[in-house]
Amino acid sequence: MPNSETTDTRPVALVIDDDPTMRLIASRTLEAAGLRAVVAGDAEKGLDLFHQLAPAIVLMDVMMPGIDGYAATERLRATPAGQHVPVLMLTGLDDLDSINRAYEAGATDFVSKPINWGVLGHRVRYILRAAEALQGLAENQALLTAAQQVAHLGSWSWDFATGATRWSDETYRIFGYAPQECTASREAFLNRLHREDADLVKASLEALRRRGAPMNVMARLSLPDGSTRYVQITSEVIRSEAGEPSQAFGALQDITESKTAEQRIHQLATFDRLTQLPNRQRFAEKVALALEQSRAGGRMAAILSLDLDQFKRINDTLGHAVGDQLLLAVSQRLRETVRSRDSISRLAMGEDGNLARLGGDEFCLLVTDISHFQDSAKVARRIVDVLQRPLEVNGQELFITASIGVALYPLDAEDADTLIRNADAAMHFAKGQGRNNYQFYSKEMNSRALERLAMESKLRRAIERNEFELHYQPKLDLRSDSVTGVEALIRWRHPELGLIPPLEFIPIAEESGLIVPIGEWVLQEAVRQIREWKQEGLPELHVAVNIAGPHFQQPGFTEFVHRTLEGADVSPSLLELEVTESMLMDDRATTFATMSTLKTMGLRLSIDDFGTGYSSLAYLKRFPVHALKVDRSFVKDMPHAEDDSAITSAIIAMAHSLRLEVVAEGVETTEQLNYLNMRHCDYAQGYLISRPVPAKALSQFVKDRLAAKA
Ligand code: C2E
Ligand code: MG
Ligand code: MG
Repeated sequence: MPNSETTDTRPVALVIDDDPTMRLIASRTLEAAGLRAVVAGDAEKGLDLFHQLAPAIVLMDVMMPGIDGYAATERLRATPAGQHVPVLMLTGLDDLDSINRAYEAGATDFVSKPINWGVLGHRVRYILRAAEALQGLAENQALLTAAQQVAHLGSWSWDFATGATRWSDETYRIFGYAPQECTASREAFLNRLHREDADLVKASLEALRRRGAPMNVMARLSLPDGSTRYVQITSEVIRSEAGEPSQAFGALQDITESKTAEQRIHQLATFDRLTQLPNRQRFAEKVALALEQSRAGGRMAAILSLDLDQFKRINDTLGHAVGDQLLLAVSQRLRETVRSRDSISRLAMGEDGNLARLGGDEFCLLVTDISHFQDSAKVARRIVDVLQRPLEVNGQELFITASIGVALYPLDAEDADTLIRNADAAMHFAKGQGRNNYQFYSKEMNSRALERLAMESKLRRAIERNEFELHYQPKLDLRSDSVTGVEALIRWRHPELGLIPPLEFIPIAEESGLIVPIGEWVLQEAVRQIREWKQEGLPELHVAVNIAGPHFQQPGFTEFVHRTLEGADVSPSLLELEVTESMLMDDRATTFATMSTLKTMGLRLSIDDFGTGYSSLAYLKRFPVHALKVDRSFVKDMPHAEDDSAITSAIIAMAHSLRLEVVAEGVETTEQLNYLNMRHCDYAQGYLISRPVPAKALSQFVKDRLAAKA
């Protein structure tokens, strides 16, 4: 039959035998069974042919000169190609010993001589079929292993009755075990679990074994190299005929990569890139959750909204890179502050996860579990304090302060958005209060802020439109019973609102800085009036002018006073300046210097509203002051209220011992006047003598008194 090598698809059978007759008969038999027979007369030639042709089966004679069949089979098995090929040994001896030796050498099967040639063909075909099935199985197994590796998917099984456990190669790999390092077991499995996840997995393995409940849990593994991996563990059971769970088949998938990708996406969407703090969205979610818990627990919570003061200036002058570094440094300091519990111990400021950057130079802090609103004030105070320490940025020290607004749950708002918004409003209010401080939210804050803004712009126009005027209230010299001085009191005559009292606009003027031009106008007007009265021929009157703190502390204040007096040709001794106690406490060095200069210039100085502040008389002694004005509140209930009377008496006595004159404010009754006279008070001022009146009325008042005396 014409056979070309290339088209012959029959499986090859290699016959290795030193007996030519045997070779011939074997060839015939094999050809008849549908194989292509190739023969070799000794083992060496046979091994050569094996490697050339890769036969499907080898028929090997045992007894051969040179290398015998056992040794040849062993050699064959030692090569990669020869590992799985079926080897049928043709033994001459039908004894157990040689059969054993054949299997030991690696033979697949054996046939004893004399050979039953009719059976041999069937035997060979059977062996080939079995080998093919085995080969297919091995290929499938390899494919499965490769697929599992690609998918990071391991499989495992667990026999409940025997406890026998099996793992696939990939399962070993995921657990970080070398296959020879340990045998698969429940313990080896649990060993690798992250401590926090072990209980969960144990519980679901237990449910799997007892009830056959399908398993589907995510858990973390702690591997010996220190890494953490995320795995998804799933399993189903096989039940016995009685319906009892008998075995589990499960899968184990390493999902670390998708898990970390998921976390990264989450991080990018909810955290600020620069500081890694939660962003606005994440913070709002967190606050909402915390408020839920506070509601359930009947607790208070607070939001602190924090904005850096004049951050824009740093950004503009030093550049955005430095600005970013500064924000980072601030966020770090805030983190440290929030974490440390020393000085505000017991107070749950939470982890730094309660801190967020809402954008720009705006930060927010959630404080939970507070029992009193003062707790949040402590936190705010502490933050204001820690930020005052210099921050190191790029090797240079930067100073920054912050303004903080505090809103309380459930007082100021019950939902997260409103609470955050209210904290923000309070923060803006804190900025308006001169920065570097904190303020609590109040319902009026929004409307008050608007009102103030409107008032401020009206005030600005008032200066341009000349809507201010000065009224004068006489001071009675009790020893001579004559008017020797007056206090100038500002009035604002608004075209629509009418006469606005100073207490309604002076504080706003102080906050907005408008107090300086207003105060300068008052000084100039008072000095001009002194000159006018002099020209009018009125007896000399001392005029006292109220000076606000920010105006007094303005650089060049004394020069302005000097120029004004000189320009009007008015003696400094006729001008008196009234300052408040709190100004003395504020900034002692410059206040003291300014006061000394004024005294040297020849002006008089008095302390207004004395007794309402905290200064002691002994402390006052060091300042160049001429007089004290006892606050109206002490005079009001005199002489019936013993306390007030006693205080007034004491102030008068002590002031005199320090050579200070005493002016009593708000004298409304003759009883009060008599009492003050008895106590040797120097001056009295009040409605009893006269209300503050315009300049014309004042000069008329003085003239009338003179006429009455004469
Ligand atoms: P002050 O300096 O203590 O002025 C005394 C205030 O008591 C004045 O109120 C005056 O009208 C009021 N008064 C006087 N006698 C009596 C009395 O017998 N009974 C009662 N009930 N009140 C009396 P006014 O004019 O409303 O001024 C209030 C405050 O506004 C002043 O308190 C002063 O601190 C401030 N102020 C007034 N004018 C100026 C100013 O030109 N510049 C600055 N910076 N502050 C001013
Ligand atoms: Mg032989
Ligand atoms: Mg005054």
